[in-house]
Amino acid sequence: MASLCELTAAELSGRLRRGECSAVEVARACLDRIAAEDAAVGAFLSVEPEWALAQAEAVDRRRRAGETLGPLAGIPVAIKDNLCVQGRVTSCASRMLANFRSPYHATVVERLLSAGAVIVGKTNLDEFAMGGSTETSAFHPTRNPWDAARIPGGSSGGSAASVAARMVPLSVGSDTGGSIRQPAALCGISGLKPTYGRVSRFGLVAFASSLDQIGPLAQSAEDCALLLETLAGHDPRDSTSLDRPVPSYTSELEGSLEGLRIGWVPDHFTEGLDPEVAEAVREALRAYEGLGAELVEVSLPHARFAVAAYYIIAPSEASSNLARYDGVHYGYRTDEKAMSAELEEERRALQAAGDAQALEEMDSALVRLYRRTRAEGFGAEVKRRIMLGTYALSAGYYEAYYLKALKVRRLIREDYDRAFAKVDVIAGPVTPAPAFRLGEKLSDPLAMYLFDLYTVGANLAGLPALSIPCGFSREGLPIGLHLQAPALEEGRLLRAAHALQQITDRHRRRPASPGPGGTEIRG
Ligand code: GLN
Repeated sequence: MASLCELTAAELSGRLRRGECSAVEVARACLDRIAAEDAAVGAFLSVEPEWALAQAEAVDRRRRAGETLGPLAGIPVAIKDNLCVQGRVTSCASRMLANFRSPYHATVVERLLSAGAVIVGKTNLDEFAMGGSTETSAFHPTRNPWDAARIPGGSSGGSAASVAARMVPLSVGSDTGGSIRQPAALCGISGLKPTYGRVSRFGLVAFASSLDQIGPLAQSAEDCALLLETLAGHDPRDSTSLDRPVPSYTSELEGSLEGLRIGWVPDHFTEGLDPEVAEAVREALRAYEGLGAELVEVSLPHARFAVAAYYIIAPSEASSNLARYDGVHYGYRTDEKAMSAELEEERRALQAAGDAQALEEMDSALVRLYRRTRAEGFGAEVKRRIMLGTYALSAGYYEAYYLKALKVRRLIREDYDRAFAKVDVIAGPVTPAPAFRLGEKLSDPLAMYLFDLYTVGANLAGLPALSIPCGFSREGLPIGLHLQAPALEEGRLLRAAHALQQITDRHRRRPASPGPGGTEIRG
């Protein structure tokens, strides 16, 4: 019999409802699996066994008392560490917030807790969600459970790896340019980025506010639907959240794909796409044809500018959002004694040299505090984004870069509008290749950015998009299929994904346990 932690959330939910197991047993199974395997994977930044068991006990008590509980009651969930959980550290995998305890819950966390989901811990990410490999975490990298020498994708790499290694059935991630879909693809699981505004961003530490969205990562489309039902909905505390009813995604999963028009984009399959990825995607398209869908060629002519536009817009917003980390309000602060000594020493040296002008121009203590705090608190990739963004927004460059990128964003959106007049869904690859090796792209930011080629468009246009497993490379690495739909058509995406998962078993495959022999990577 499969261990409890290997079951999907939907399966677990049934067992819990029928009284075949308790929430405490489920939580224990997950906690044991984390204890056994996470040293080799590094998916978590913090695990809360006592709190998790207490939440599970509370669910069991309520069930014993005869309460009817929702489908997520007693289901373990891992939370990306850029989402606030009250009283607990929300580090964003940054030294800047290493000791920051959030004074409130993110809306999604509140919703999960009131649905009875059991929060087991917080997962690793690229620092402030900036990256595509989870290597820029200030604490440790996360490894791909399918091959420990490879990256799990990012930035929600910890969330994806925790589900792929069957440490938890569900996890919550965020996606600004692909951070849910890309690690889902590389780890062989399902992940959905909802329509911009579908899920409240309240309590999500902002990276690029016009692009960020929170969404589910899980073993199946069905589980994504289950989790999204709880995450989604209007929230007066996020002015960009949409005031639209949340459909019952789980009850809309079934249904024929007869007549569904699936768009495919020839440009997706040109040079740069790994042939094994291309073949796996083509095979999925053929499977859809077999299910009665109609394949239609569409074009997204401006998609080739998407990475360029994204890497102006996202860093511009980030440079503004990250201005708040000044060492004064909260978060990391430089050693003030060492700072005063440094200032004093500089002053004396300049006095001795008689350099009156340099003395005049010396930092004030406050400016030096900002400077040292930010120099020490942020890692290299975050600093690169702040510099890129500050440059793109500065007087004289604003029109040439930021405004131009906004115009491109508009053209990309219009491409989608035109394509969706002809098709219901657009299918293609999620990433140009399967997971690369740790360290492979770390010194080449441009190569890392280009890996986002297929995912950033949906964020720029605000559209829902998901990734589901569609194959494996010869080396046994997972490959993802990307499905994109018009705004608020998450239900359509999930239905299409679910249909494929009814006739294939790729989403059921899981990596062999790295086991106790796995590489110890905790620093
Ligand atoms: N890889 C992209 C970036 O580095 C996307 C990150 C994300 O979606 N958070 O910006």
